[in-house]
Amino acid sequence: MTRGKVLVTGASGYIAGFVVKDLIDAGWDVVGTVRSLGKADAVRTALGLTAEQLPLVAADLTGDAGWADAAAGCDYVQHIASPLPVGTPKNDDELIVPARDGALRVLAAAKAAGVKRVVMTSSVAAIAYGKPMPPGGFTEVDWTDPASLDAYAYVKSKTIAERTARDWVAANGAPMELVTINPGLVLGPVHGSDFSGSLAVVTQLMNGAMPGVPRIGFPVVDVRDVAALHVTAMTAPGMAGERFIAAGKFLWMGEVAEILKSRLGDRAKRVPTLRLPNFVVRLSALFDPVIRTVVSELGRTRACNAAHAKAVLGWTTRPAEESIVDTARSLIAAGLVKQ
Ligand code: NAP
Repeated sequence: MTRGKVLVTGASGYIAGFVVKDLIDAGWDVVGTVRSLGKADAVRTALGLTAEQLPLVAADLTGDAGWADAAAGCDYVQHIASPLPVGTPKNDDELIVPARDGALRVLAAAKAAGVKRVVMTSSVAAIAYGKPMPPGGFTEVDWTDPASLDAYAYVKSKTIAERTARDWVAANGAPMELVTINPGLVLGPVHGSDFSGSLAVVTQLMNGAMPGVPRIGFPVVDVRDVAALHVTAMTAPGMAGERFIAAGKFLWMGEVAEILKSRLGDRAKRVPTLRLPNFVVRLSALFDPVIRTVVSELGRTRACNAAHAKAVLGWTTRPAEESIVDTARSLIAAGLVKQ
């Protein structure tokens, strides 16, 4: 006997794959969206699911087609799709428009279908930029200022999308509820070769893609813990409007490199040990658009405090070291990093 039906948007994505699997394991019927049904077989194969277990509907965040069909008959929505590119787009709107307008399309379709609650994947990007870090780290009361100088395109897209979604639900949503999950840098094992840009931190280190390690850092969180929080937040009573940071320890990239080297030995032989001075990174950024995206992060600590999810939802996280090692082991096993 099924518990009900859940729409997962962007079922081809890294986090979404784990949410889909957890929901199915917990007895929910799941329908997913993909931008193109051409991806359907690859998505199901990566997750080890049949077409019956994971029906897929084509829907793009930039268009209206497919959303009403996808949401029909659903009790809940996990709205996870949003553009997450490596590097900087030519124009900020390439990320802002699909993130914001796509969220509105999903919310409107969910409301029309009688969905009870939408869980939307936001980010610490919507929390921790454009203001000094409070003692103890950023919390759910903090909001990024999208007009601040350190708010790059992705940061703006997540902030504007979450704000817009909250405003829309406040004005039009009742009785449908909205909860957001705001993850830090998501790491962990991969289901296939189509994984998130967030794993670039580990792939670049493992491949020795950089001559040294820039002084940038992130609040790290495991994809398995992020997925579990999405599922718990979906049905926990009394959570309308809640916002949950999903983040663990803040680690510098140099610490990630040290963990890989000390735990994986020869398998991490390409991981650089040299620490790159900030001026070298700034200089390289003049020539490399990918490096340019991290310049504003040099030396910045953006620790985020997940006490709220722990207290309210009993959320637990595995140690960051475990997530980092599991990421690398999984990439090695799948032949996705040089050995
Ligand atoms: P991902 O693997 O790149 O997943 C992104 C998903 O969004 C993919 O399914 C992608 O579809 C879909 N998507 C992108 N543009 C779309 C469009 N125009 N129309 C429809 N679908 C579109 O990355 P992820 O890490 O799982 O990210 C999932 C969510 O978590 C995003 O909302 C992201 O902002 C958020 N998040 C991620 C992290 C992190 O560190 N990974 C941290 C905080 C928040 P395709 O497969 O067709 O490209």
